[in-house]
Amino acid sequence: MKKTVAVIGAGSSGISAIKVCKEEGIDVVCYEKTNRIGGLWNYAGGQNEGATVMKSTVINSHKEMSAFSDFPPPSHFPNYMHNSQVQQYFLMYAENFELLPHIRYNHDVVRVSKSSDYEETGRWKVVFKILPDEKEFEQIFDGFMLCNGHHACPRMPQFPGQSDFLGPVIHSQSLKVPDDFKDLNVLVVGIGNSGVDAAVELSNVAKQLRLYLQRIQTAVFPFMKESILNSTNNELELYKLTFSPDLQHPTLAVIGLVQVFGSHFPIEEAQSRWFAQLMNGKVVLPDRKEMKKEISRRRKAMDVRFVDSARHTVEVDFIHFMDDITREYGATPNMRKLLLTDPKLFFACLVGPGLPYQYRLNGPHSWPKARETILNFPSRVEMPDDNCCCQME
Ligand SMILES: Cc1cc2nc3c(=O)[nH]c(=O)nc-3n(C[C@H](O)[C@H](O)[C@H](O)COP(=O)(O)OP(=O)(O)OC[C@H]3O[C@@H](n4cnc5c(N)ncnc54)[C@H](O)[C@@H]3O)c2cc1C
Repeated sequence: MKKTVAVIGAGSSGISAIKVCKEEGIDVVCYEKTNRIGGLWNYAGGQNEGATVMKSTVINSHKEMSAFSDFPPPSHFPNYMHNSQVQQYFLMYAENFELLPHIRYNHDVVRVSKSSDYEETGRWKVVFKILPDEKEFEQIFDGFMLCNGHHACPRMPQFPGQSDFLGPVIHSQSLKVPDDFKDLNVLVVGIGNSGVDAAVELSNVAKQLRLYLQRIQTAVFPFMKESILNSTNNELELYKLTFSPDLQHPTLAVIGLVQVFGSHFPIEEAQSRWFAQLMNGKVVLPDRKEMKKEISRRRKAMDVRFVDSARHTVEVDFIHFMDDITREYGATPNMRKLLLTDPKLFFACLVGPGLPYQYRLNGPHSWPKARETILNFPSRVEMPDDNCCCQME
């Protein structure tokens, strides 16, 4: 019998989760509490209640590294897409793979618990409201994927003497439009994605703007990494740029700077693919003791690798993580075989950026166009022209 899965949230994680469930022959229903897909990439003119990007936000991960693994963004899109183009890309993906009919909009999931027959069936009860009504409904599923976003709740720091300050103090999540700060002297605390985006927004209206950064750590081998990255990314050469990575992923809010690290989207997709394989019994979980050991090992490694902040509890090294998770279901590129059978592709995978299409060369639901998409990468990077920016809303 077909398995049933509930996907909670229709952001980038949710839509790729629907896609992989469909591929695996799983009956999938996605509950989305708003009336649109895209999650925090759907700016919606600042009307959004929860977390969103800001009006001017440009994605800081390259479009080829942010691609779903069998659906590169259109060649004419800029390499660093404005948020409206990211949203457009999600819609194209959802329409192309007929994901939209699986989404139940205005469905707010309020609870997930074990079903009454959980001990025999392992099933789950998903309880939801159809907004704006308060009445609760429930449906039983074999599994569920929580794709409700990890940046939903603002984290507000407290500084000594803060209460003595009489001006407005807000979290960046509330900064949908910057007008309240017109002609004020503004201090932005933090230089993550939101901090820099806020600075860009406010710089248009504020009298004076300062950015305050609490702490930056330096990488152990920054120069080595820098030279490897710069020598293997043809786009850096194309635009005559160099790039220095850091322990935090760098935030680049200015179109024209280049970042070759991975993006969240392919990682979310690979996690969903792993989950769909698990649901169909094609991968198995290690025993509880083994899982605890592995979680603790990974947490320790993350503590060493990344800055100790809530944001970085979900940070991973793109290629290591993608290799690890895809190995579980047999989709890591087979480098030895490529060396012997396809040296051109081998070289592109070895020294080129870790494009998400590499993880569709083999394994379940491999993508026949993966090879040519990897090899054509340089031409797609050169394709965007000056007119691209006209597409921004
Ligand atoms: C300001 C900012 C900039 C970022 N920039 C980048 C970037 O440049 N590159 C990159 O790779 N990543 C970036 N990220 C990381 C970002 O988290 C991911 O890109 C990605 O959008 C996360 O997708 P998601 O689907 O997991 O969550 P979200 O996009 O947050 O989507 C979650 C969805 O779940 C829905 N939902 C929540 N709760 C419920 C519920 N109870 N019931 C039903 N539906 C629910 C929400 O309405 C929403 O639609 C950025 C994050 C932020 C905050």
